[in-house]
Amino acid sequence: MRIGVLALQGSFAEHVEAFRRLGVPAPEVRLPEDLEGLRGLVIPGGESTTISHLLMEYGLFDPLSRMIATGFPVWGTCAGMILLARHSTAMPHPTLAAIDIAVERNGWGRQVDSYETEIGVPALGGPPFRAVFIRPPVVTDVGPEVSRLAQVDGGTVVAVRQGDALATAFHPELTADLRFHNYFVQIVAAARTDAARTESIALTTS
Ligand code: GLN
Repeated sequence: MRIGVLALQGSFAEHVEAFRRLGVPAPEVRLPEDLEGLRGLVIPGGESTTISHLLMEYGLFDPLSRMIATGFPVWGTCAGMILLARHSTAMPHPTLAAIDIAVERNGWGRQVDSYETEIGVPALGGPPFRAVFIRPPVVTDVGPEVSRLAQVDGGTVVAVRQGDALATAFHPELTADLRFHNYFVQIVAAARTDAARTESIALTTS
């Protein structure tokens, strides 16, 4: 089972390393052909506008959108959450719309340039998860099909799941706690999307 990590910009190396520690091959994805044979994809933190431009420029947006529409598992962290949201403020291109949430980029304001806190995540089990926030998006609307996996004090949702799409406003790839990576591995392992189908989708959309 191979889980790709979108490697256009941002914290992709940290995701690759986390999957390596779990023993899961995680090739870097830069071109449409890199999507072939993958069972899931992670979109890292970084600068969502830059990643958005590069998705268009490298011809990845269309094949990825189609794969997502068939249930291909994806996980976005921070900037990745913005790219997976149905709608985000202040984006240059459409988002991938994998999850029925609306987000506001940099919505916490300057006081949350960087912030760490412990959050309860019942789906992970075990102790609270140390969440690292770096200029995160704020989730402003959550659709009826979306599960809320975690909230911060005050009630703002910071982790969501819809089908086999996962998004976190924080950065599990920047901590040593592998539980979110493991959670995504379990989603991918259980997903209906098989590698052969994914491959044919990627190939027919280039
Ligand atoms: N503020 C960034 C954006 O809007 C996201 C920051 C991050 O991924 N840590 O794209």
